[in-house]
Amino acid sequence: MAPTKPAAGGAPKRQRVAPALGPIERKIQAARLVQAKPSLGAAYSHALARWEADPVLRLLGLPVITECYRSVARQDELYAQGRTKPGAIVTYKRGGESKHNWLPCPALDVAFLLPDGEVSWSGLLLSKFARLMKAADARVHWGGDWPTFKDRPHFEL
Ligand SMILES: [Zn+2]
Repeated sequence: MAPTKPAAGGAPKRQRVAPALGPIERKIQAARLVQAKPSLGAAYSHALARWEADPVLRLLGLPVITECYRSVARQDELYAQGRTKPGAIVTYKRGGESKHNWLPCPALDVAFLLPDGEVSWSGLLLSKFARLMKAADARVHWGGDWPTFKDRPHFEL
């Protein structure tokens, strides 16, 4: 969105518009959501609905599923990152060892679409969303609660 010109003698007007997905992104989200185990999908949908109904939270960002099911080959690629390939370590699970490799999938990863169009993995936003996920279904575990390798975008049953 183009910045609005400052009004004479005042600060630039800032529009507070909740971020929203276009039709293609909505289809992608729906396709990821159907990969999830029904109870995890239901918890996510419930948490998302509560987020979107909150007048403050909805302006901070929109939760999006970045990944649900992941092939064994893709898991192996991620495992190589930070070991035999450049980048930071993002997983301790090899192909076949992650809950992301199951279908229907008992795990999903979340990020936020910000009002400026950027994608964020803010720990603060994720912890707020985690509260809604756990309230929706007490069987949901949040990776941010794990004592060692904190995986804040990660939710699983
Ligand atoms: Zn994950």
